[in-house]
Amino acid sequence: MKIREISISTYSVAFIAALALSTTSMTVAAHGTAKKNSEVAQTEKKEPTIGATKLNDTLTLLSGVGGFTGGNVVVSNGPDGMLIIDDKLEAMTAKLTAALNDINPSNDLKFVLNTHWHFDHAGGNAELGKSATIVAHTNVRKRLSTPQKIDIFKKDLPPSPASALPVITYDDSVSIHFNGEEIKVTHMPSSHTDTDSIMYFTKSNVLHMGDLFFNGIFPFVDIQNGGDVVSLTKNIEKVMGIFPADATVVPGHGPLATMADMKTYHQMLTETTANVSKMIKAGKTLDEIKAAGVPKTWAGYGWLIDVPTWNGIIHSSLTR
Ligand SMILES: [Zn+2]
Repeated sequence: MKIREISISTYSVAFIAALALSTTSMTVAAHGTAKKNSEVAQTEKKEPTIGATKLNDTLTLLSGVGGFTGGNVVVSNGPDGMLIIDDKLEAMTAKLTAALNDINPSNDLKFVLNTHWHFDHAGGNAELGKSATIVAHTNVRKRLSTPQKIDIFKKDLPPSPASALPVITYDDSVSIHFNGEEIKVTHMPSSHTDTDSIMYFTKSNVLHMGDLFFNGIFPFVDIQNGGDVVSLTKNIEKVMGIFPADATVVPGHGPLATMADMKTYHQMLTETTANVSKMIKAGKTLDEIKAAGVPKTWAGYGWLIDVPTWNGIIHSSLTR
């Protein structure tokens, strides 16, 4: 499968470099004209592209190859037209559109579903929303229509244009009946943000987790914007109890996964949280906790979010 060929190091370097720069730098990094540091220089060598992995006759996974393009996208293509879950970074919109044209030259894109509001998952909204209908949780519309900050990545985000805003919103859940199956969309409160939904294709048995799930790496949990590690961990446990053990699981970031991979991720969340909790109880300072590392099993998870940052995110969740 193409997704397995992604070099984790290229992917993470590109991600960190892109996120470390200012708001406009996403475009800059993606086009390879920034020369702010060596990490960015490394992304300049080749432009990231979008690779397609067919999941079945109807569904295709679109993922970044050779660099950071934004979150994983699932496309449903069939007699009703096309529907996509998430639409990557704004700078990738032309490549995303080309990938959709490859799947179906008539590119009859009817719906865009957003798993959450982040710019690397809803970046294509402004362009694609001019013709397709955007569906997302109520808080996605709230956040996209007002100024937002993500301090950890030094991001000051202005309100999005009207075309980028969800037209259909929901508070708890909604179903979309499309291409011969029901897509069950369920809001997961205070997880990665306060805007998250997971989306399940009932016939295909494919579950898109959005950024509740980073496969094989520490997740970014946006504490500033309603995320919470403890609540996220409980929600992952809930999901594992609801959906079939043989479901195909699409993480927000990282390679295509299984429920067993999500179980491993849940174990990582639980054990790294217990580790930080123990240190807080022992009276350690934030700096000491950041420097203390993680249990050995999870040391290799510090790619997108490094170990000190991850311990800091857990600390924020446990101490507010
Ligand atoms: Zn996100």
